[in-house]
Amino acid sequence: MPITTGRSYLAIPGPSVSPERVLNAMHRTAPNIYEGEIVDMVRELIPDLLRVAETRQNVAIYIANGHGAWEAANCNMFSRGDRALLAATGRFGHGWAEWLQRVGVAVDIIDFGKASPADPQRIADALRADTGHDIKAVLVTHVDTASSARNDIPAIRAAIDSTGHPALLAVDAIASLGCDELRMDDWGIDVLVGASQKGLMLPPGLGFIWFSEKALEVSQRADLATPYWDWKPRGTGTEFWQYFGGTAPTHHLWGLRESLTMILDEEGLPQVWERHRRLASAVWAAFDAWGQGTNIALNVADPASRGWSVTSATIPGGGAGALRRWLEAEAGVTLGIGLGMALPAEPAYQDFLRVGHMGHVNMHMTLGVLATMEAGMQALGIAHGPGALEAAAGAVAG
Ligand SMILES: *Cc1c(COP(=O)(O)O)cnc(C)c1O
Repeated sequence: MPITTGRSYLAIPGPSVSPERVLNAMHRTAPNIYEGEIVDMVRELIPDLLRVAETRQNVAIYIANGHGAWEAANCNMFSRGDRALLAATGRFGHGWAEWLQRVGVAVDIIDFGKASPADPQRIADALRADTGHDIKAVLVTHVDTASSARNDIPAIRAAIDSTGHPALLAVDAIASLGCDELRMDDWGIDVLVGASQKGLMLPPGLGFIWFSEKALEVSQRADLATPYWDWKPRGTGTEFWQYFGGTAPTHHLWGLRESLTMILDEEGLPQVWERHRRLASAVWAAFDAWGQGTNIALNVADPASRGWSVTSATIPGGGAGALRRWLEAEAGVTLGIGLGMALPAEPAYQDFLRVGHMGHVNMHMTLGVLATMEAGMQALGIAHGPGALEAAAGAVAG
């Protein structure tokens, strides 16, 4: 008999669980968008939005999802016919490349596969070969949400700098912002892409681009920038409506105010990162134990190259799909599908799943998911190594 009464849990890698406080902050009628409270609130919100990315430069807010934020980044960096270099470490890297190709930018893709981080040396080699400096930007996904591989952004920055190549460094941090350590200015990131529904704990609906002074300079000549996506008035405008290219996303902004207060002023960004690291290490410990004597395995072998907000793993023989369905039907827990590892029509598609542990998550939520997965494996007769829950508890305790 299913045991689904009680609070269900969406443990997918975005949208993440929104705190009641964030939802309650949004639960009001729309304000005057021309003057008064919302205008004053946003003036104070912008510095906090810069803080959460560890930057003192610029930020633009869009009514958009992550794909819209990609398009904003693309349109402001490039002109039609330009070239980009993209280091792909999973499905989301390829997705960004496709979005860029469709607006007329030629993309050189270095494919690092579906389970490993980018090798900075190969990025440097590609830039050295570009003696005419045709490549305008290097694009990388910080944590690819499909593979859960995490790239070493400072090492990639150092590799770019070692070549003397002037390309911008653009980073998709949609899955990592507010979860993994991320320091835009210290790490020399020129363009940082984010969205509201992952580490920032809001419903989907806001896209963010943080951009450096150097990126702002480049964008003065980018002929792909259309009026809505142009980041200049949003990032540097003086009139309130210019920040949003029209009506402000008033309710999301109230929610964002609440989530930034929780992240920056109450918990503190370093503590938020540390919480995610510990919860991720519990998930990894459980999978390592389940994998003893079986083919259950984490997707990314090296712990240093795993994101802290999402874990991609395999349970072969269709076990992942069966376990996902069992958890949803019998226990009220929804895990993420395996994305980009196999096509939905292929049998191997059922061999992968993802556990989301991003945003408003704590020990009992993540340990609860792992214990529920253990129950599902027992119920379904999926062979698994012993001691996963003890290992997970030990990892999170230590
Ligand atoms: C979720 C995600 C996206 C896509 O965001 P949408 O809001 O679904 O458009 C892009 N990149 C990464 C790394 C993501 O995690």
